[in-house]
Amino acid sequence: MIGFDLSPAQRELQKRAGQFAKEVISPVAVKHDREGTFPLEVMNKAHAEGFLTPLVPKEYGGGGLGILDTCLLSEELAAGDMGIFVSIFVSTLALYPIIKFGTEDQKNEILKPFCEKFTLASYCLSEYHVGSDPASLETTAKPEGDSYVLNGTKMWITNGGYADIYLVFATIDPQKKHKGIISLIVPSNSEGVHHGEPIDKMGQRASNTTAVTFKNVRVLRKNLLAGEGEGFKKAMVALDITRPMIGIGAVGLARTALELATQYAQKRIQFGVPIAEHQAVQFMLADMAIGIDAARLLVWRAASLADQGVRNSREAAMAKAFAADVAMQATTDAVQIYGGMGYTKWHPVEKLMRDAKVIQIYEGSAQIMRRVISKHLLRENAS
Ligand SMILES: Cc1cc2nc3c(=O)[nH]c(=O)nc-3n(C[C@H](O)[C@H](O)[C@H](O)COP(=O)(O)OP(=O)(O)OC[C@H]3O[C@@H](n4cnc5c(N)ncnc54)[C@H](O)[C@@H]3O)c2cc1C
Repeated sequence: MIGFDLSPAQRELQKRAGQFAKEVISPVAVKHDREGTFPLEVMNKAHAEGFLTPLVPKEYGGGGLGILDTCLLSEELAAGDMGIFVSIFVSTLALYPIIKFGTEDQKNEILKPFCEKFTLASYCLSEYHVGSDPASLETTAKPEGDSYVLNGTKMWITNGGYADIYLVFATIDPQKKHKGIISLIVPSNSEGVHHGEPIDKMGQRASNTTAVTFKNVRVLRKNLLAGEGEGFKKAMVALDITRPMIGIGAVGLARTALELATQYAQKRIQFGVPIAEHQAVQFMLADMAIGIDAARLLVWRAASLADQGVRNSREAAMAKAFAADVAMQATTDAVQIYGGMGYTKWHPVEKLMRDAKVIQIYEGSAQIMRRVISKHLLRENAS
C-alpha cells in the first residue's frame, strides 16, 4: 500500500516551518545574498525552533523526528532561502553520524549541550585536492598516546567560520585509501584550528563557506567516531540520509521559482494578453510543476526507505540528482518567463538561478550521483 497523505503532526510541522520561512527567513534573504553575510540572528531563532536538531532523539533534547519529517520541514525552509536552509541543514549533516554511530558518552557530551544552547556544527570532508573522490583525502590523523594529531586543510566548509564543532574526516594511513579514514569530533576552539575568510560565491551567499586548517591539533581518542577504518563508511551512510534533504531543498527552491513565475506571467501583458495565455509560457510552467512533484516524490521515497531502516543509496542519489536538475531548469525557466526583468537584480528570480547551480555540485555532483545509480544498476544486472 502506498500513501501520500501526511499525518496531522506532519502538516503542523510543515505549517510551522513555512511560517518561519515567511516571517524570519524571506524578509532578510535578499540582504544577506547581496552582502554575502551570515544570518546569525536567523540561525539563533532556527535553533530555538529545533530546526537545527530535528533528528536528535528526544532523550538528548532534540526533535526526535524521522527523515521524512525532516524533509517536510526542509522544503518549507528552503522555499524561504536555499542558502539559509543549507546553513541550518549542515548541523544535521554533521550530527547525524554522531546520532547513528556515537557512543553514549559522545551523545551526552555533544548532542545534549547542542540542543540546549545555540551551537553550530560543520561537516569537514572536502579538501583542495579532494572533492568527488574523498577516499583520497590528505588530512592526516596520527595516533599519539591518548590522542590523534590532526594536520591538513579542509575546503568548502559550510558554517566553517561559525561552527563550534567540526566533524572531520582524516586518514591514519593514506595507503589504505578509504579503509584508513577515521572521523573525529573536533571542538573549533581547539589549539591549532583556524578558519579562512568567507568564500565569495555565485549563489547561496547567505551561507558561510570557508577553508578550515588543522595544524598539530590534538584530538582525544574519546572523540573518535566509530572505529578506526570506519570513518569512510559512516560518512557515506550519512550522505544517504542527507542527500534526500538537499534534494527536498531543491524542491523548495524550485517551488518558489514556479510561484513567482506564475504570478509574473499572469500580470505581464504582451500581444494584448497576459503572457500566461501564450501556450509556450503555459508549457514552461507545466514542466516546472511536473518536475517539482516528481522530485518531491523521489525524495519522499528515499526518505521513507531510510525511516524503515532500508539501505537507500540508489534512491537517495536519484532523488538528489533529479531534484537538483529540476531546480536548475525551473529557475532558468523562471528567468525566461520574466524576460529582461528576470536578468536583473530588481527581481528575485536571478538569485534563485544562482542559488540552484551549486545543488548540482555539492553533496555529490550530478555526475557522481549518476555514477552511484549506474553502479547499482550494473551490479543488479551482473550475471
Ligand atoms: C557552496 C559549497 C558548499 C560546500 N559545503 C561543503 C561542506 O560543508 N563540507 C564538505 O566536506 N564539502 C563541502 N562542499 C564541497 C563539495 O561537496 C564538493 O565541491 C563536491 O563534492 C565536488 O568536488 P570538487 O568541487 O572538488 O569537484 P571535482 O571533484 O574536482 O569535480 C569537478 C567536475 O568533475 C566531475 N567528476 C569528478 N569525478 C568524476 C567521475 N568519476 N565521473 C564523472 N565526472 C566526474 C564532477 O562531477 C565535476 O563536474 C561544498 C561545496 C560548495 C561549492
